[in-house]
Amino acid sequence: MPHPNDPSHRSFIDVSPTSDFPIQNLPYGVFSTRDGLAPRVGVAIGNYVLDLWELEQDSRLDVGPLGVFSSKCLNPFMALGPKVWAKTRARISELLRSDNPELRDNRELRERALVPMADVTLHLPVSVSGYTDFYSSKEHATNVGVMFRGKDNALQPNWLFMPIGYNGRASTVVVSGTKVKRPRGQLKPPTVDVPSFAPCKRLDFELEMGVVVGQASAMGGMLTEQQAEEMIFGFVLLNDWSARDIQQWEYVPLGPFLAKAFATSISPWIITREALEPFRLQGPEQEPAPLAYLKQGKPQNYNVELDVALRAAGANAPASISRTNFKYMYWSSVQQLMHHASSGCAMNVGDLLGSGTISGPEKDQRGSLLEISWNGTEPVELPGGVKRSFLEDGDSLVMRGWCQGNGYRVGFGEVEGTILPAE
Ligand code: CA
Repeated sequence: MPHPNDPSHRSFIDVSPTSDFPIQNLPYGVFSTRDGLAPRVGVAIGNYVLDLWELEQDSRLDVGPLGVFSSKCLNPFMALGPKVWAKTRARISELLRSDNPELRDNRELRERALVPMADVTLHLPVSVSGYTDFYSSKEHATNVGVMFRGKDNALQPNWLFMPIGYNGRASTVVVSGTKVKRPRGQLKPPTVDVPSFAPCKRLDFELEMGVVVGQASAMGGMLTEQQAEEMIFGFVLLNDWSARDIQQWEYVPLGPFLAKAFATSISPWIITREALEPFRLQGPEQEPAPLAYLKQGKPQNYNVELDVALRAAGANAPASISRTNFKYMYWSSVQQLMHHASSGCAMNVGDLLGSGTISGPEKDQRGSLLEISWNGTEPVELPGGVKRSFLEDGDSLVMRGWCQGNGYRVGFGEVEGTILPAE
């Protein structure tokens, strides 16, 4: 059977070369329609959603236990493992190809199984078991370190030896489009002696990629590079909303807590690891060499173009404020997962790993307002003379990502969030 990533494949569904969702992508999501049926699993193709539950009921898609795709999350499907993921993706690709009459010429099935994207509501695609956030961009960690500790102590001594991370909150991971209420917390700017409890004044975003873990690992065990890789079901765009003023006061000595626990937004479509395979590349050189348990034998980074746009409250259109790439990450997702399990920590189906803020080497490649505005000292200028150091009520933040192929792109869609005032 031809591989689903073959660039020569075409679907009988018309897909623009600039669409995020050609037949080479086939990302999974959870959607509902106005017919009142419960949310179920679908795949994006051009401007349509392919309803996998309809295909499963019509015996066109056999993944084993019936009803995997009538679930309101992808966890039951992910639990079936990488062999089933690959087989299912190959079968979906086959059903959508222009040279296959099975779905193309079955008008009745086509009308049931293909829903215009404009008619669906997209939901959180996974039931998030646990959320862990890393800090793996050397450029981001250096920028933050220079701002707060000076150039000579920018990176902490542990940073080059392990992917630094913390355990975040799964309870407030939300899908793109969910409005985000400005958080409240203890604020103690350096100019005052006693903290007050008030709405955050330095609200920020963090541009990240999220890894969706599709397989569990045993408590007490460790992971090889291959095992870690095979546990990764796919990737989403992730905005790790951050309250800088709350963070600054609370983070000593145990790290971020409430400053990052009020909301984390992800894009609705999970781009499979397999779909990203043609865009795999070697990451930055790691010096000193990682300890043996973190060594990688093959390239584990991906060439994903990333764009961040900000629509200021009252403005009509978003304006791009950062353009970077996932390829700059110092520690790969596979290394993060190997490190995560290395003490004996069990991983679960549905775990979400944030990559850490993705900044590139250039000034216009910074992945947070903290860096873009250099801690508020260089506000970013938006069209119409509007300036921003941090996010204001009514502002909307949009992240997009895509891998550029020859004549097609494997895209992530977008993750959007608009800020509501604190109560
Ligand atoms: Ca983060």
